[in-house]
Amino acid sequence: MGMFDHVVYESLCGKCGKPLSGFQSKDGPCLLETLKPIDVESFHTDCRNCGAWHDYKVEVIPAQVSVTTSVFNSFMEARRCN
Ligand SMILES: [Zn+2]
Repeated sequence: MGMFDHVVYESLCGKCGKPLSGFQSKDGPCLLETLKPIDVESFHTDCRNCGAWHDYKVEVIPAQVSVTTSVFNSFMEARRCN
């Protein structure tokens, strides 16, 4: 219902290189719970420094969790690419 969950993840901005924070996902219960990437299929954040939007896709391979990212200049650009 317009809510999300927090995702514990660490990464640097693909555009400006600053540490990212505030990762969110809508794949979980969306009750502002704190989840790990393995708990969701995708999550996202925007860079507090330059505003670049980052989409993350989580792939669970046996014994391994792989996270890939797409970087966009803005939230609007990210939605357009979908
Ligand atoms: Zn940035």
